[in-house]
Amino acid sequence: MLEDKNQERTSLSELGEFGLIEHLTKNFTIKRESTVKGIGDDAAVLDFKDRKTVVTNDLLVEGVHFDLAYMPLRHLGYKAVMVNLSDIYAMNATATQITVSIAVSNRFPLEALEELYAGISHACELYQVDLVGGDTTSSGKGLLISVTAIGEAGAEDLVYRSGAKPNDLLVVTGDLGAAYMGLQVLEREKEVFKVNPNNQPDLSMYTYIVERQLKPEARKDIPVLLKQLGVKPTSMIDISDGLSSEIIHICKQSAVGCNLHEDKIPLDPQVISSCEEFDINSTTVALSGGEDYELLFTIDQEDYPRIKGNPNLSIIGYMTPENEGKHLITRANTAIPITARGWNALKDD
Ligand SMILES: [Mg+2]
Repeated sequence: MLEDKNQERTSLSELGEFGLIEHLTKNFTIKRESTVKGIGDDAAVLDFKDRKTVVTNDLLVEGVHFDLAYMPLRHLGYKAVMVNLSDIYAMNATATQITVSIAVSNRFPLEALEELYAGISHACELYQVDLVGGDTTSSGKGLLISVTAIGEAGAEDLVYRSGAKPNDLLVVTGDLGAAYMGLQVLEREKEVFKVNPNNQPDLSMYTYIVERQLKPEARKDIPVLLKQLGVKPTSMIDISDGLSSEIIHICKQSAVGCNLHEDKIPLDPQVISSCEEFDINSTTVALSGGEDYELLFTIDQEDYPRIKGNPNLSIIGYMTPENEGKHLITRANTAIPITARGWNALKDD
């Protein structure tokens, strides 16, 4: 539905594999001192001196993780980088380099890959990371993108999922559920488009939630902000699968329980109004929607004055001894156990 009909089509076979990589990466420049050797040799060379190296990888598969019917390739390239950088920031580290590998079927012309790499390049510029390697190969069907992100941190700054203690405050950045509701809007418009291809979707009422789905931003600013505030989280994770599953990860790995307060979960007004429109419970969306790429962390109660009132941060609950369990405290002040899929427990019936 968002396809550009006036595209040129250059077959990938005209370039060959090495020509293709060279063509797609020729405009990427090196920004980081830690990049000793980027693209152009058998391997990249990085130098982090006495700092710790952080590495993560995510694989995105067409039809599983994205749908090109409404996901422009430029946005897809950008998002593929974001989901990886988010994991680096969740370690309280700085992202510095990425590698990108793609497998493409011959239905994609060169111009499509140029779009994909334009998105990757835009992400590299804004987030100041270097593209230092990767691979391209053919796939029988569809498109696969594998991104590896590399980062660095001082050993004393690294934050794991395992450090939360009872009475620590549970804090989340930004707001939740918007990416999921953006997806609902896009899925609905796709169905409308199937019936009437001349019907151009009007998404003006949904700009924020659609953008959160198509062009998420990783929270590069949060490790910097926490350092400025003099706060080191006791545990941290990024929200890729939904609040409930990330809380469960922290609780399991820290051996603690948790009380999450429903009325404290930050929601954008567009999430609330679209939830009403689609007749979905907004708490359920925040708990199970996913793809928010916000950061969830715990802090010692002593650090409360340092984060109090910060517009980027919401205190949504506190940690408890493990034997007290993991609960959502509803607006009606009842305690509901938090499960990996909060969906069923919260149905409006
Ligand atoms: Mg993660």
